[in-house]
Formats: sequence, C-alpha cells, structure tokens
Amino acid sequence: MFFASDNTSPVHPKVMEAVVRANTGYAMPYGNDPIMDEVRAAIRDRFEAPEAAVYLTATGTSANCTALACLAPPWSTIFCHTNAHIEEDECGAPEFYTGGAKLTLVGGDDARMDANALDHAISHTGRGGVHNIQCGAVSLTSPTENGAVYSVAQIEEIALIAKRYDLPLHMDGARFANALVATNASPAEMTWKAGVDAVTLGGTKNGLMGVEAVILFDAKHAWEFELRRKRAGHLFSKHRYLSAQMQTYLDGDLWLEMARHANAMAARLKDGLMQLEGAELLHPVEANSVFARWPRAAHKRAHDAGAKYYLWPFAQPLDGDPEELLSARMVCSWCTTEDDVDQFLSTLTP
Ligand SMILES: *Cc1c(COP(=O)(O)O)cnc(C)c1O
Repeated sequence: MFFASDNTSPVHPKVMEAVVRANTGYAMPYGNDPIMDEVRAAIRDRFEAPEAAVYLTATGTSANCTALACLAPPWSTIFCHTNAHIEEDECGAPEFYTGGAKLTLVGGDDARMDANALDHAISHTGRGGVHNIQCGAVSLTSPTENGAVYSVAQIEEIALIAKRYDLPLHMDGARFANALVATNASPAEMTWKAGVDAVTLGGTKNGLMGVEAVILFDAKHAWEFELRRKRAGHLFSKHRYLSAQMQTYLDGDLWLEMARHANAMAARLKDGLMQLEGAELLHPVEANSVFARWPRAAHKRAHDAGAKYYLWPFAQPLDGDPEELLSARMVCSWCTTEDDVDQFLSTLTP
C-alpha cells in the first residue's frame, strides 16, 4: 500500500535486464554509445521529428533547467503555473541554470495555466525598456502537479499565446507517458504539432532507474544544450547505462503500457475512495495521481494498517476530530496492483 509517489516504485525488470545486458564489453562514453543511436532514432520516430535533438540526463530537474537555460536568457522571465515543479520543487535550479532568469507565476485550476491569465501576465511584462525584465519562455507541465492533463487543444491555446509574443514553449513531461495515454494523442500531436518547442520526457517516475530525455524540436539549440549539460555536470560518462534504460522504455511501447497501468490504478483508487462516506475529490483524476480528502478517522485506520502516502499539501495531525476532512495526494505507478488498491480501500472502513 505504497502511494507516496511513483518514484518509490522499483525499476521495471525489463529495464534492469537491459542495464545488465549493456554491461558487457566496452562502449564509447558521453552519449557516443551505439545504444544512444537507437534511442535518438526511436524518439525521432515516435515523435515524428527527424530533425529533433535528443539528449539524456539523470534527473528531471537537470533536464528541465538545462533545456530552459537554452530558451530563456538571464535577463528574462519564464511564465509557469504557481504550483509548477520548476517553481516549488527545484530549489532555485531554474534561476541558477539560466544564470538569473526569474519565474513569473500564472494561476489556473488544477495547476493548469489559465490562458487569459498567461496572456495578461505576458502583456504586462518587459515592455522593451532596458529597466524591464524581458519575456523569456513559457513552461507548462502535463500531467500537472495536481494530476490534471492538458488536452491537445489546451496546449495549443497556451502555445498560441506564447507564439503571439514570440516566446518558446517548454513542456515539463516528468510524467509525459501518463499524459499521453490519457489524451490518446500521438507524441507529435501533444508536442511540436501543438506548438511545444522543447519537452523533457520523464522515465524515472515510470519504471526507469534514473533517466529523462530532453527533446529539442528546434535543433538550433543542440550545441548550446550540450555545452550547458556538460557545464552543469550532467553529461554522464558511462552513458550507455542511461541509453539502455531509455531504449527499453520505448521498445515495444513499454512506456505506454506502464503509464496505462498506473493511470488505471489511479482510476480504481478514485472510484473506491468516492464510495467512502464524506470523501471528496480535490482535483480531477486524469492520470496516475489522486488528490482527495476524507475523514481523519479513515486516514488513521489506513495509517495504522501501514498505508504510505502524503497528507497534502502539508502534514496534518492524525489525532483530532475524527470527522474532519484531511487532504491527501496518492500516486500510482507501473507496479501498483489491484490488490494494493483494494487492500488500501478496505482499511478505510472499520
Ligand atoms: C518529479 C518531477 C520532476 C523531476 O524531478 P527530479 O527529482 O529532479 O527527477 C520534474 N517535474 C515534475 C512535474 C515532477 O513531478
């Protein structure tokens, strides 16, 4: 009953096997290994983007921030949602990697940027004067930090605004596969065809050991990205082990299979939770996370039975009024089982 986050899950056995398979003989370092050639070809193929520049890093933070640094100069600002990972969970890495660019926060329900609010924020920034912060880039996350998924039309709407102001659009895709299977769109439709210029394609939260891909649809940033990644200390020397994970991820659509499963488990969890007296959803369940609140007494029973998840957005005391509703975030992964979900649900009622 482990729902704390999808990065608490183990590595998919096929991925582990691929890493072991890669562990024979010699291979050129720093991304010059033959498996990386396959990864590059597979990503270009899946995204229908034969010219895209494709790189791997080991963390989502480095992937986001080295990509953003190529898009937003130090004297600019990046428009993102108030709850964006780059704002709340990267310890100032965007500011650090860009060399000082700031973030301008945009509101919107379920951690999706509201298009009008974005338009308003951009139009009130950087009117060209030397005293003003300049507009740098727009960054959206899908699924969002609240588990909602941007439809293709919603991405297009954001992209249209970005383009109107001549700003590049970055997508934080730490859970890209979960969004993709939720929308039924193709990778191309969800990214460059909708106006996304750069995407970080997550793997770690969906069954890999530690790999994220950065895809730059405009390869003019490729060399700059390579320099920035190296300078940031994120160019892996024994790169073949990163390549092997990503190769297996895409092979036979394992990434989609794992994401579909995680999303289905979240839907099952939501359906069960909504049977519980007093339970309420905080955000729509569109991918693999469930944000809900329910009475403290049921939290206490789950906790005592060993269930692991975060009370959200902050730890709320388990002792107190048994009727009071406490909010929680629960995340399912490729290896969450129906039994895990059902067992958890059974703990909620006495
Ligand atoms: C987890 C996550 C990341 C990447 O985090 P790292 O811990 O740096 O790998 C980026 N964006 C979002 C939305 C995430 O949930």
